[in-house]
Amino acid sequence: MEFVNKKGGLLGGGQLGRMFMQEAINLNLEVKILDPDPMAPCSKFCNEFVVGNLMDEETVYAFGKDCDWLSIEIEHVNVNALKRLKNEGVRIVPDPELLEIVQDKGHQKNLYKTLKLPSPAYVLIENKAELNTARQTFPFVQKLRKGGYDGKGVQVIRNRADWEEKGWDAPSVIEEMASIEKELAVIVARDSFGGMSVYEPVGMDFNPKANLVEVLHYPSGLPEEVNQKAKALAQNLAGSILKEGLLAVEMFLTSTGELLINEIAPRTHNSGHHTIEASLTSQFAQHARIMAGMPVGDGLMTSPAAMLNILGEPGFSGPAKYTGLEKALAIPGVYVNLYGKAITKPMRKMGHLTVLAKDWVSLNQKIVQVKGLIKVQS
Ligand code: ADP
Repeated sequence: MEFVNKKGGLLGGGQLGRMFMQEAINLNLEVKILDPDPMAPCSKFCNEFVVGNLMDEETVYAFGKDCDWLSIEIEHVNVNALKRLKNEGVRIVPDPELLEIVQDKGHQKNLYKTLKLPSPAYVLIENKAELNTARQTFPFVQKLRKGGYDGKGVQVIRNRADWEEKGWDAPSVIEEMASIEKELAVIVARDSFGGMSVYEPVGMDFNPKANLVEVLHYPSGLPEEVNQKAKALAQNLAGSILKEGLLAVEMFLTSTGELLINEIAPRTHNSGHHTIEASLTSQFAQHARIMAGMPVGDGLMTSPAAMLNILGEPGFSGPAKYTGLEKALAIPGVYVNLYGKAITKPMRKMGHLTVLAKDWVSLNQKIVQVKGLIKVQS
C-alpha cells in the first residue's frame, strides 16, 4: 500500500507534543497543534499552530474538522467535540470513550473493577458529607475525580480531624492507602493492525515535595518475575481497552508483593522519556508510526537508563536561565532535552536528562553525579 500522508491534529502543544513532532518529522507527517499558550513548547515546531482552549467544545471541533486524524498529548480535552468528529469520520486516537473514562478517576476505578484487575479498594463520594455513610477507616487517600494532575488533587487523610480540616467537598475517590514498596510504570503501544509493543517496566522515585517523578530508571530494580507480571498486566489492560495508540500504566508494588494499578494515561508519558535514547523505537516514534498508519516498532531496550526531570528551582519565577548544562553534557552517556519553555516557575517541568550506563552500578553512580547539576532559575 502506498503511504499517503494524511493531515493530522494534536491536542496539546507541550513537551510531549514537541517530542512527538521530532518523530513526526521523520515520517513526514503534516501536523497542526492546538494549545491555549501562544508560547507553548510546540508553537514553532508544527505545520500550523492554533491558540485555543482545549476544553472548549466548539474550539476543538473547529480545529479538528479538516483533519483526517486527531490525537492528544494531554487528556484534559473536550470529549464531546471528539465524539462529534469521530461520527463525522475523523480518526481519533485514543478513542473518545476511553478518554472519557480516563478523565474521571472514579470511572477509571470502576473500569479496573469491571475488568477484575487489581487496584486499591475504593468508594466514590459526591461530597464531603457522604463520607460519613460511606467509609470511616483512616488513613485513606482522597482523589478528586476530575481535573487533577501531577499529584495535584490527591491528598492523604490521616484521621478524622485531618478530614474535617482539609477534606475536599467535591466528587472524589476515597482509596485505601497502599503500603508502597515501589512505584513502577509500563507503556504499551498498539497499532491499527492490532500489533503491540510493550516496554520494560521502569521504577519511579518521587520527589515528596512536588509529587513529581524525580528519577525514573530501567531496569526497575525489581525481580524479573515482578517485571513480567507488570508487563502482562499492562498488556492485558491495553488488549481490553485500547484500540490503537499508547497506554501508560502506573502501578504500585506493595510490601506484600501485590501489583496494583494506580492510574492509566492513553498517551505518551513522562515514564517513557528514556526510550528516546535507550530503546530501538521510542514511545514518540511509536506514536508517530501509529498516526501514520504504520506498524509499531520494536521497543527493545538497548541500555540501562535513567531519566531525571529538570524542574524549575523553588523561589524563581520569570525568564528561564540554565546553569550546569556544560558539566552535565561533559559526562559520557548524558543527554539533555529542554522543552523550550521561556518562563520558569517553582517545580515546573522545564526539561529532562537521560543517563545511559553499561550496568546498574554505574547507572546509579551517574544518577548521583548528575542530580542537581542543572539548575533553572530566573
Ligand atoms: P496524579 O494523577 O496526580 O498523578 P496519582 O493518583 O498518581 O495522582 O497519585 C499521586 C501519588 O500519590 C502516587 O504516585 C502515589 O505516590 C500516591 N498515591 C496515590 N494513590 C495512593 C494510594 N492508594 N496509597 C498510597 N499512595 C498513593
